[in-house]
Amino acid sequence: MNFAGKRVVVTGGTRGIGLAISKAFAAGGACVAMVYRSNDDAAQAALAQLEASGGGAAGKHSLHCADVADPEQVRLVIDEAALALGGLDIVVNNAGIGIYHPIDSTNYEDWQAAWQQTLAANLVGPANVCFCAAQHMMKSGGGRIVNITSRGAYRGEPIKPAYGASKAGLTSLSQSLAIALAPHKIFVGAVAPGFVNTELTAERLASSEGVEIKAQSPFNRVAEPEEVAHAVLFLASTGAEFSTGTVIDVNGASYLR
Ligand code: NDP
Repeated sequence: MNFAGKRVVVTGGTRGIGLAISKAFAAGGACVAMVYRSNDDAAQAALAQLEASGGGAAGKHSLHCADVADPEQVRLVIDEAALALGGLDIVVNNAGIGIYHPIDSTNYEDWQAAWQQTLAANLVGPANVCFCAAQHMMKSGGGRIVNITSRGAYRGEPIKPAYGASKAGLTSLSQSLAIALAPHKIFVGAVAPGFVNTELTAERLASSEGVEIKAQSPFNRVAEPEEVAHAVLFLASTGAEFSTGTVIDVNGASYLR
């Protein structure tokens, strides 16, 4: 897909699914600003990969360190990225966390901490990114926002209930903003992956648990990050405007709703 000259922000764009998204946009000719939390080495490696990707925007990609759970850092980083890019056309809310906190074996303090941290990073953070990005996009006549939710928003997350709830909230936020921002020509969509093969999940997939996880799909495998990126690029592409408000499942038919 052609994204020549498009100015893109990807939160959590330096590792895992986010890196695949950043690379796909860069390969399509976009200039990409990658937001990450703290891993400078991974961020530098990601930037080097984008620079080598040959999409025509070499030298125009950038790195921005910020915690999306902090409202003030979000405001600053979106303004900083827009300045670096010379404007904002596309924003992908990809950064997210998952904390293990089963209700039958977690104390009340840890339960509250898990809810606060998860909602701050996965729901309020993306809402703030949407708000700050929309201020730029409304001034420049439009844009695209794609939010990465999860199969867990629909299927439930019994050992990470705050995660499932945060992603269900992000789905609802995407739908609300698709309606609210349509008059401003800002199109909002969501992508809901099932299990994805990333650096982080590789160990679990290689264990005996991995057999069960893969068997959830009739393909007997999990998604590759590039398959999630493909859905993101579709929603951000010219021609996908009337798909605003859509949630695309990327779960290999492991959960059909
Ligand atoms: P990772 O844990 O691999 O995320 C890594 C990226 O997110 C890094 O760039 C990291 O920065 C950044 N990041 C994490 N927290 C923050 C924060 N608070 N502020 C800014 N940046 C942050 O994630 P995945 O690739 O596994 O997942 C990406 C998205 O996809 C998430 O929203 C996740 O919920 C969703 N998802 C993932 C699935 C999977 O199987 N992996 C399945 C379904 C949905 P740094 O390197 O500095 O830490």
